[in-house]
Amino acid sequence: MVERKRGRQAVQQRRRRLRAQPLCQDCAAKGLVREATVPDHIVPLVQGGSDEDGNIRCLCADCHQARTAEQFGHRRTVPTGSDGWPIG
Ligand SMILES: [Zn+2]
Repeated sequence: MVERKRGRQAVQQRRRRLRAQPLCQDCAAKGLVREATVPDHIVPLVQGGSDEDGNIRCLCADCHQARTAEQFGHRRTVPTGSDGWPIG
């Protein structure tokens, strides 16, 4: 389990990451130029992701929200058959 950095250290780390990736990575992938405001963990810490720079992508607030919903919003597990469709 990775311990999250707190306080001043976390603020400096966040600033450094946003300087390294000043543009939203998801928007850039769509050909858009938008300022990144949130360093996001590609693999969330609670899912075993690391707090290394390699696991960080900087996103704008909108993309961060979308990614978070993607990572944490669909926890519901539905049993599926061998054809991949939900059973029942
Ligand atoms: Zn974006």
